Amino acid sequence: MINVQSKRTLEHISQILETPISFNLQRQPSKKYALAVKDQDEEPKLFFLTKNKYTVGRDASNNIRIMSAGVSRYHATLHRSQDLFWITDGVIKGKLSTNGIAINHKKCYSRKLRDGDLITFSNDACALLVEIRNNELNTVSIEDTFQKLQSFCKGNEDFQEAPADTRVFLRMLPELMLQVDSNGTILKVKESSDSIFSRYNQELINESIFKCFPAEVSRRVISSIDNIDNSRCLKNFDCKIETDEGKVPCEVQITVDEEQAIFVIFRNISGRKKLENRLRHDALHDPLTKLPNRSFFANRIEFLIQHEKIHKDCHFAVLLLDLDHFKVINDSLGHPIGDQLIVRISKRIKDCLRPKDFMARLGGDEFAIILEQIEDVNEAVNIAKRIQVKLSNPLMLNHYELLPSASIGITHSNFNYENVNEILRDADIAMYQAKSSGRSRFEVFDQAMHQKALASLRLDSDLKNAIKNQEFKLVYQPIICLKTQKLIGFEALIRWLHPERGLVSPEEFIRQAEESGLIIAIGEWALEAACRQLQTWNQMSGTDIPLAMTVNVSSKQFSSPHLIPHITDLLHKYQLDPNWLKLEITESIIMENSKFSADIFNQIRNLGLQICIDDFGTGYSSLSYLHRFPIDALKIDRSFILEMDNSPDNTGFAIAQAVIGLAHNLGLKVIAEGVESARHLVWLRSFKCDFGQGYFFSRPLEEEKATLLVQKKGNWWQRDNSSDSSSNNSL
Ligand code: C2E
Ligand code: MG
Ligand code: MG
Repeated sequence: MINVQSKRTLEHISQILETPISFNLQRQPSKKYALAVKDQDEEPKLFFLTKNKYTVGRDASNNIRIMSAGVSRYHATLHRSQDLFWITDGVIKGKLSTNGIAINHKKCYSRKLRDGDLITFSNDACALLVEIRNNELNTVSIEDTFQKLQSFCKGNEDFQEAPADTRVFLRMLPELMLQVDSNGTILKVKESSDSIFSRYNQELINESIFKCFPAEVSRRVISSIDNIDNSRCLKNFDCKIETDEGKVPCEVQITVDEEQAIFVIFRNISGRKKLENRLRHDALHDPLTKLPNRSFFANRIEFLIQHEKIHKDCHFAVLLLDLDHFKVINDSLGHPIGDQLIVRISKRIKDCLRPKDFMARLGGDEFAIILEQIEDVNEAVNIAKRIQVKLSNPLMLNHYELLPSASIGITHSNFNYENVNEILRDADIAMYQAKSSGRSRFEVFDQAMHQKALASLRLDSDLKNAIKNQEFKLVYQPIICLKTQKLIGFEALIRWLHPERGLVSPEEFIRQAEESGLIIAIGEWALEAACRQLQTWNQMSGTDIPLAMTVNVSSKQFSSPHLIPHITDLLHKYQLDPNWLKLEITESIIMENSKFSADIFNQIRNLGLQICIDDFGTGYSSLSYLHRFPIDALKIDRSFILEMDNSPDNTGFAIAQAVIGLAHNLGLKVIAEGVESARHLVWLRSFKCDFGQGYFFSRPLEEEKATLLVQKKGNWWQRDNSSDSSSNNSL
């Protein structure tokens, strides 16, 4: 919609005032155009055409909006061509509108408009192009003008002869305009077309503004008059004045013309205020649940933190709630059901709260609750328990029965927080603790968690430095062919030599590196170091058959777009036969990336590399991926091998045997991890397991020791380690 903007409007008002009310403005008004549009039963609207292009239609995105149902979404485009306007049916570049336009009763697609042209958009909506010149005010109403014009058209008379009296539109300006003297005495009134100002009419002439408006408004008007400068600079302020519809917000402008006449203009801005309020509301609320959003939550928390600094006993608690397995529901049942679930859950949570509690949706499936005036964290615990009980009731959505649950982290303002981020950080730590200890639980943040979080932060920054300072190295654990008892290759395992902590095991840092994304850089480094080593070994004299190098690839690395180009580069750089490079990935990688992992698998396979599933049996139960993806081998997790020692009912045997059978049936090789004793070896050989790796053969070795092994070849492990799994040449 075009807003009749203040400055422009003022110019038009100057035009209106010139002759009939004789304010005697000196400026010669230039030729202007306006389009008056009338919808069925609607008051005609006036659009001053100062821009070069306007779209006309029913859709809110149009500049000129016509509400009539007979008008298409994008009905017409009006664009300036020199001093006149063209109107085009529909969008300029796109489609025509579905119901067409008629100008002076003739259907047309495009036409140069002239002053007085009547444009019919449908039976109940029409517009009139108006040229505004140095006109006098006239008493003919716009209604009459339209009717006259329409009857002319219906009677097929020549439209050009119609008395296109346009001055009438000038009266439509909604502002109330007063001319006052410097003491605030009203000299003249230009009455407004906005009926709410009807009480402000000619009768006010010679009255003081203090008699007509609230004292505060009048005072501001006088002070603006006092301060107005000679450059006719506008002074503006907002206020509320009494109207026929009660108190209405108005924008007040005070200006002087060249003759030093002072004008006070009141413009009804209730529409703008409503819009502002709606925008403010929208900016602070979540559209789905209508709950306060993250910004509103942050504002409230900042207020409470400051409040508590003054009122020392005003404590509060924050509950951070995250739905369990929401992603699964969203992915499997679709986003509309996910949205409905969020709305239903938010209502359930709200039911558990006291009226004074504040609940916000922070995003996705995350909600935050502020419990104000809480003495003891136990009160928050009780509410968390109540929420969890209420949530656990089955919920029917589109014939699906869902059993929702949530993990809740609680923190209390006792920790003297300085800002909302600190509160959310701690509530989040507690919430994650609740999730990792089995979900559908709550945890209260405490110092131990804080220490853990600090340690994790420290680990993060240490890891960043470790990449820079080259603190990583690889060790190599031999892999043996169980049939020939020969060394067939190594698994490359990363080690971190921390400057203060010494050797740090990958179990301690790989997960963290995954979470922070640093794993990509670390993994790329490991892959390159392993390739360099493989080249060295395979080029060494004394090795008869080439060795294989197995490298672990983590989830983030696997889905990184750099993986394939990186491997391609490495194969080229180190002149490697891709057959001797193997990647180990875990089952969870496949499940997490199921959409695109097939593609990545095929690209890896096309490069000639082999893929091995690590820790097989510990991840997901779905085995369907085994034949869907090009996999070469399974690595039985060492927990199953250990189980062969422990379980009295032979479950370890059964599992190991079943995995080997399954793999062989699918044409896959099997590697047993964690072979720690001669007994394991005997059993595994009897099950026809292909390869073995474990402390019984060797612990992971430093490069030099592994190199010695490579040179010795043969049944080295039998000679060197006999049946002792705690050999010295291990790491
Ligand atoms: P993994 O890939 O399953 O590696 C086998 C782990 O089992 C290694 O632990 C190895 O030292 C250990 N191991 C081997 N034989 C035996 C045995 O007989 N008994 C017992 N108890 N353990 C044995 P490590 O080196 O601590 O590595 C742990 C995990 O860290 C690896 O498990 C792998 O998931 C990950 N990892 C290691 N290096 C890398 C790497 O470069 N990149 C990535 N993404 N992950 C790596
Ligand atoms: Mg591995
Ligand atoms: Mg493993």
